[in-house]
Amino acid sequence: MVRKMHFQGRRQVNRRAGQLVDKCRCSRRTGVILVATFGGDGLSCFDCNLDVAASSIGVGPDDQFVLHRWRDAESALYSLWTASGSLESFAALSLRDEGTWTNQLRRTIRRRIGRRHRCWMQLFQSTSDQEFGRPHRCPSCGLQPELIPVSVGPRLACRRCWFTWFPAEGSAGRRAA
Ligand SMILES: [Zn+2]
Ligand SMILES: [Zn+2]
Repeated sequence: MVRKMHFQGRRQVNRRAGQLVDKCRCSRRTGVILVATFGGDGLSCFDCNLDVAASSIGVGPDDQFVLHRWRDAESALYSLWTASGSLESFAALSLRDEGTWTNQLRRTIRRRIGRRHRCWMQLFQSTSDQEFGRPHRCPSCGLQPELIPVSVGPRLACRRCWFTWFPAEGSAGRRAA
């Protein structure tokens, strides 16, 4: 059972880079993404997909506290989901539903970090989703996501809602239809 897009994304990056690096070394970074499953502080680079330390982009202690609260809650839900036990569907619903406490906390910390940096939120998808890696509509505003070229390949994003998706393998270069 292979269905963990975040880890797939990480493997892709490492393969392309030809080395096992975990930290972003981009000299110019166009944004950060809130992604709890990468470990670290819960931030990854919009361009290379690797970890970004919160302190390295000037996130202060108060905001780091909120960021880590969100990261811990989100990671716990991911653990439940990947364990495939009786709480799997509860975890998937909680990760997907924008009204849950964890997703509200994510919006709060996105706003705070977003004052100084472009800060995106990666939307949960299961590989069993029909539109896995290829969403046709943003679930929040209904607009068609656009492809933004970054170093790991085009990344789908909704600029209005600050949502992003990691494109499924094979969809790179394809325009969102
Ligand atoms: Zn980077
Ligand atoms: Zn949107």
